[in-house]
Amino acid sequence: MLQLRPNCECCDRDLPPESRDAMICTFECTFCARCVEERLHGVCPNCAGELVRRPVRPAAALARHPASTTRILKPEGCEHVATS
Ligand SMILES: [Zn+2]
Ligand SMILES: [Zn+2]
Repeated sequence: MLQLRPNCECCDRDLPPESRDAMICTFECTFCARCVEERLHGVCPNCAGELVRRPVRPAAALARHPASTTRILKPEGCEHVATS
């Protein structure tokens, strides 16, 4: 199940579970759409994986399976996208 992390790892912007601007990789590294477009160019800086839009969890499901509240922030990782 997706963790639905609450913020962008690059800019610490809030990304609530209903946000359509949240992007994740296969490991659920979570970024906002703006960082993905302007800084990361669609590639996760942590694992070099593909970033896709995080699906929105319906409210009823969210009540049973709440989103994560653990904020993860790695601003230093966002300027150095893996090139290998
Ligand atoms: Zn961001
Ligand atoms: Zn990743």
